[in-house]
Amino acid sequence: MIIAVDGPAASGKGTIARALGRHYALPCLDTGLLYRAVGLSVLKAGGDPDRESDALAACTFQDSLLDEPALRSEAVGSLASRVSIHQSVREALVARQRVFASQPGGAILDGRDIATVIAPDADAKIFVTASVHIRAQRRFSDGIAQGGHPDMDSLIADIQARDTRDMSRDHAPLRMAEGADLLDTSDLTIEQAVQRAIALVDAQLEGRLRP
Ligand code: C5P
Repeated sequence: MIIAVDGPAASGKGTIARALGRHYALPCLDTGLLYRAVGLSVLKAGGDPDRESDALAACTFQDSLLDEPALRSEAVGSLASRVSIHQSVREALVARQRVFASQPGGAILDGRDIATVIAPDADAKIFVTASVHIRAQRRFSDGIAQGGHPDMDSLIADIQARDTRDMSRDHAPLRMAEGADLLDTSDLTIEQAVQRAIALVDAQLEGRLRP
């Protein structure tokens, strides 16, 4: 069984995907980390994330990079969004994601193009979203919890810039796939969002079983 969870930055899709993984006992892949690793590799190599050849060369990153805490920063999120517009970069990362998706027993993947490109035949598809203000507020709270001094206006601007780039790129733009269910987490607690996601997945799985 494959469950696809897509959505914009800070929508809660990663938290929901991990909770679904625990509920259905399935392994999870946060595909954003792959793009973040490419972005960070370009930076470390002194390359230009907007130059396709530099970004493609960074796709051979070492797996140990996926454990680096720096990968989770907003700055690396923006770099990831810039390298991810290049078609050759997306192609270089496809095989890895499809191998993970097709492992025996199934898998959950979260990202931007899971239900549209990576696993269009997924058994269940959820598109997680939330208002820009709520998403920035979540990032703000995370920043405070980590002892930082986040600035709400720049968080809003970063999220809007990332949304625009992810939705308007030529290759695999962020959009809701046909057959996906929308889950708006703006007014939900994490627990409520997870329960809603489980209910949506169960309903989709049941629908597929019905003759
Ligand atoms: O999900 P996360 O915020 O970690 O993703 C970082 C960036 O990687 C996104 O803004 C997006 O541009 C890119 N990405 C993508 N396709 C995916 C996952 C992430 O283009 N499947």
